[in-house]
Amino acid sequence: MPCISSGYKNKPICFYNSSGFVNGGKKYNYKSYLQKMTIKTFVFNPFQLNTFVVYDETKAAIIIDAGNSTTEENNELFNFIAQEQLSIEGLYYTHAHVDHIIGNNDILKKYNIEAYAGVDSDVFFENAEGHAKSLGFSFNKLITPLITIKDNDEVKFGNSSLRAISTPGHADGSICFYSEKDQFIIAGDVLFRDSIGRTDLPTGNFDLLARSIIDKLYVLPVGVKVYPGHGPTTTIGYEKSNNPFVSESEHL
Ligand SMILES: [Zn+2]
Repeated sequence: MPCISSGYKNKPICFYNSSGFVNGGKKYNYKSYLQKMTIKTFVFNPFQLNTFVVYDETKAAIIIDAGNSTTEENNELFNFIAQEQLSIEGLYYTHAHVDHIIGNNDILKKYNIEAYAGVDSDVFFENAEGHAKSLGFSFNKLITPLITIKDNDEVKFGNSSLRAISTPGHADGSICFYSEKDQFIIAGDVLFRDSIGRTDLPTGNFDLLARSIIDKLYVLPVGVKVYPGHGPTTTIGYEKSNNPFVSESEHL
């Protein structure tokens, strides 16, 4: 939290009071600044997709990626949200491959919310019906128009916000969601523990993906926890040192 130096006799105005944190006349809710967001992970559908519910102390929440593909998976997700008394404010996609979007209409209907995806994701939604069929899923066209998000957009809910970081290379429209305050990133299929996203699918490009990882993710603090679209969590520091596909020194 920066102090400013325009206070009395140029002394920084930066102090606590009983109700919060005051900085240059602007009051912060110090308690909520210390609160961390909670991330609940569900593993859904045959592709073992990580669907995330992210929420804070206000109970405002967003869902990132909609892998729920059966009634049982819907119930698991919806029951958790009801039990925690969360207010769902939006459905966000890291990218629009079928395994990440299959449950979208069930979520949109249930919570009467809108869906957000990176610029250039539309083509995946247009082709999703056929693609889903070939994988044994049924997919119906989105019931609400897709709202696009771009690099550096802030996703706000409750007292929290996540910054959208555009990371193309696995699929056009790929977005990671970063919390500088809580030091985590929801990375979709860009970076996995000891792996990276496939680049052999439409709009995939290895060089572009490597640039996204090196220029956008490996520049983050080493302690930042990474929540990938599939598999276990990792950290930026671990992948910089150990990732066999894109290491810190490669491609520089
Ligand atoms: Zn994908």
